[in-house]
Amino acid sequence: MNAIIFGAPGSGKGTYASRLKKRLKVEVISMGDIFREFMKKETEFGKNVKQYVEKGLLIPDEIVVGVLRKKISEIPSEKGIILDGYPRTIPQAEILKEIAKIDVILLQNVPDWIIIERLSSRRICKKCNEVYNIRFLKPKIENICDKCGGELYQRPDDTTEVIKKRIQLYQKMTSPIINYYKEKKTPFIISNIKELNTTPEQVVEKILEELKIQNLI
Ligand SMILES: [Zn+2]
Repeated sequence: MNAIIFGAPGSGKGTYASRLKKRLKVEVISMGDIFREFMKKETEFGKNVKQYVEKGLLIPDEIVVGVLRKKISEIPSEKGIILDGYPRTIPQAEILKEIAKIDVILLQNVPDWIIIERLSSRRICKKCNEVYNIRFLKPKIENICDKCGGELYQRPDDTTEVIKKRIQLYQKMTSPIINYYKEKKTPFIISNIKELNTTPEQVVEKILEELKIQNLI
């Protein structure tokens, strides 16, 4: 099963994807994680990417597509994928059509106020990129990753001002793509998150239930 997960930054989609990965034994391709890895490496390419991300801007198509093609080619073809952070433009969606058949769109609808609450308390593992939240999804030991013992950090773009900019950008960029997949009659599973304390387990279980109902797993 190949899926694309959509949701504003802070919608929890990264957490849902990593849980779905375990349950469904699929690979998650998170463009954000891939680019953050590049940025850590201090190469020319990494520095170039960093300029866009720190300003809350989108990375140009030609860079993103090249990275995606390489990543997909490394995954065994029988294994399913969940794409996170791609496509972000119609041209990217058109290119994706040639690379992989998409069976379902997982869409997370989360109001802005919840996103702002969540993101300002988000922490990420420096080593393995696992996502935590110091209010709702605490690690067992403060500031330490449960999975690998790595140190947790706050992303520089998780400040309220940059968050608002990122939500606006997300909405502007995503709505045409959502419409694109609706027109193509790609199945959708929509999670409408209305409360701050909805847990990732609740969301993931619902997604799995829907996937079964729609005969996708
Ligand atoms: Zn970790």
